[in-house]
Amino acid sequence: MPTALATPPPAFELQPYKSLENDALAARIQAVRNRMGKRLMILGHHYQQDEVIALADLRGDSYRLSQLAAENRDCRAIAFCGVHFMAETADILANRPEKLAERGGERIPVVLPDLAAGCSMADMAAIEQIEDAWDQLGQVIDTEALTPVTYINSAASLKAFVGRHGGIVCTSSNARAAIEWSFARTSRAAGGGRVMFFPDQHLGRNTALGMGIPIEQMPVWDPYAPELGGNTETQIESSRVILWKGHCSVHQMFRPEHVKQLREKHPGIKILVHPECPREVFELADESGSTGKIIKVVEDAPAGTKWAIGTELHLVNRLKQEHPEQEIHFLSPVICMCATMYRIDLAHLCWSLENLAAGTPVNAIEVDEETARWSLVALERMLEVK
Ligand code: SF4
Repeated sequence: MPTALATPPPAFELQPYKSLENDALAARIQAVRNRMGKRLMILGHHYQQDEVIALADLRGDSYRLSQLAAENRDCRAIAFCGVHFMAETADILANRPEKLAERGGERIPVVLPDLAAGCSMADMAAIEQIEDAWDQLGQVIDTEALTPVTYINSAASLKAFVGRHGGIVCTSSNARAAIEWSFARTSRAAGGGRVMFFPDQHLGRNTALGMGIPIEQMPVWDPYAPELGGNTETQIESSRVILWKGHCSVHQMFRPEHVKQLREKHPGIKILVHPECPREVFELADESGSTGKIIKVVEDAPAGTKWAIGTELHLVNRLKQEHPEQEIHFLSPVICMCATMYRIDLAHLCWSLENLAAGTPVNAIEVDEETARWSLVALERMLEVK
């Protein structure tokens, strides 16, 4: 979990904002944007609601947003319309030592409009569980030849663990490169080294299968099992990629029968999914990739292409609106949206921005120095393998 800074009491309480209409809130948010100008950056993740995206300075996936904001020379405050781990990454990148030095020590506050906006996947891997797993693994295999790889959708404490243990962060677009880098790092170890991949088992499994690693060499580590994550010593000894038992509650909802139903109903339809989807769906898809790739594939497709897309509902609906020349369907008959991202509404955004402008930031996220330092090591390794 991120650290919420101890800040002065807010100039404005949240409650009155909740009874305002969206039009009034949008006008007030716009007024803060006008007043703060380029000093303020509102970042909107692709899975946010349309009314939030409409007011964002940048929209994108979590890493790209953080990177763009951190590189912006005018930015002095960030409101991250996303979830906890994204605000942490933005804080780590925007307030890294060289950036602080450039600004004469001035910190950029990173505000998460609603502190309850977490990520259920990130919450499935607590640092204590990871450390315990590492200790247990150390009794069976040589952890010097085991490289931890964390998906960027994880708490800063996990990124720091990875940094300290010679590992690397990955995104959904460079998971394969990160695993290859990890194997190369330990290639001289007996058995060629191993990877421990967390917190998303599906991204880890789909990626490793694509690299030709047999499923038998990918044991799943259940942090609630009494010992060895529910595995035998033999399974751990013969492993190449140990998968953490975590998943995205949104992408886990897509099922093979949804693919079948859409193909029957719309002959010629193409299935496009995110690699956080389960293997059975991922393997049936025509194309797959990160949110950025999904958007690009749709943008580049000829008019009249039929798509069924398996990712968060807000993004799919936005693609539908922005590409009326194509026929876009949501892959599931049930609503799959990120309930925690959805917590960021105009009331929370307006409240946090007006407090920011008044000099009493609320919900400012600051990662402690040691955690930020090691997280940065793991993030920088990721950039090296891109
Ligand atoms: S969509 Fe999934 S991985 Fe992304 S923030 Fe929501 S729960 Fe987490």
